Amino acid sequence: MIIRQIRITPVAFLDPPLLNAAGVHQPWALRAIVEIVTDEGLTGLGETYGDLGHLGKVRECAQALIGLDVHALNTMYARVTAIVGEDAQRVPTASQERSIDRVFSAFEVACLDVRGKAAGVPVSDLLGGRVRDAVPYSAYLFYKWAGHPGAEPDRFGAALDEAGIVAQARLLIREYGFASIKLKGGVFPPDEEIAAIRALHEAFPGVPLRLDPNATWSVETSIRVARELDGALQYLEDPTAGITGMAEVAAAVPMPLATNMCVVTPEHFPPATAARAIDVLLLDHHYWGGLTRSSHIATMCDAFGLGMSMHSNSHLGISLAAMTHLAATTPNLTYACDTHTPWQNGQDVLTPGTLRFTNGSVPVPTGPGLGVELDRDALAVMNEQYEKCGIVARDDTSYMRRINPSFPSTRPRW
Ligand SMILES: [Mg+2]
Repeated sequence: MIIRQIRITPVAFLDPPLLNAAGVHQPWALRAIVEIVTDEGLTGLGETYGDLGHLGKVRECAQALIGLDVHALNTMYARVTAIVGEDAQRVPTASQERSIDRVFSAFEVACLDVRGKAAGVPVSDLLGGRVRDAVPYSAYLFYKWAGHPGAEPDRFGAALDEAGIVAQARLLIREYGFASIKLKGGVFPPDEEIAAIRALHEAFPGVPLRLDPNATWSVETSIRVARELDGALQYLEDPTAGITGMAEVAAAVPMPLATNMCVVTPEHFPPATAARAIDVLLLDHHYWGGLTRSSHIATMCDAFGLGMSMHSNSHLGISLAAMTHLAATTPNLTYACDTHTPWQNGQDVLTPGTLRFTNGSVPVPTGPGLGVELDRDALAVMNEQYEKCGIVARDDTSYMRRINPSFPSTRPRW
């Protein structure tokens, strides 16, 4: 099964004004859809980030993969490494994701989709077989404005205090049936976010809660907040920056600490585990190098006694399908996964109805490959939106500063 063609289509979809430590989501979220076409006429789908710099690397690497067999993942990884370059392994982002793994991931997922289609089996079978038939996701709550400045309010409305957060949780749980809740924090002073968690704890007794302030707190603040939330949180995610800081917090607080920030490459495992910095790793196949490499990371977590959940950025259905196959085949991924799906508000590049939520979980697709089908008309519309929207990279901070010029960039903020 030789790769004859790879199509890369950048897309944009409407995104609500979701507030976070970096600022606020822009009106459009970007992704790129990867289609690998083989000599036998099979097409495999992948989805990755849509930022222009990343897109350029993905396009360049795509050319170098033409002519390879879809099973030759090691050769593909070597070619991506040669192009993206050893010195570019660490991009200057908060999470220091490795460029090579980020670029390789979408190709790997698309190859698995092709291989599943050729063999007539779901991707979950290629990953070792599913250990659960449906994957639980959490209600991912955000503080948010009613709408983007100058635009009509969106259907989710404002959530700027604990009452707004509880109302948002009720809406998402009513529509999706979620049985776990995560709040994106790092937006307001910690006492306000403590109040929001307490309000959720009271409104949804017994429902597991998580809080993720994206390392906006000092070690001292993290310890204070964590102690005040004793008994209310399933885990606390990235309260403070770095393995050393997280280890200081972990030693002093009652609940598990989770991360998708201080352990983002395999080389972070030895120092993080030696320092007992984390208890839970949030897996993300988009930056851990695809589904197979993510399975290996899960094995490493098992060896080190770490629990597992799953991280999410704004994404579309191809990613949701890939995340679901991965989570379904990872025995030790026992925490409900994060997803931004509700914030897509029905926008997708897939034929409607392929993926659905039942009681907060996505049943694992059982069709060949990822088990999803591209809607070419929707893809064309979203590509046109990308061309017209004027956004070429995610930049929550610059967008926020257009509205609030004094928005601070210092961390820790509290
Ligand atoms: Mg996080």
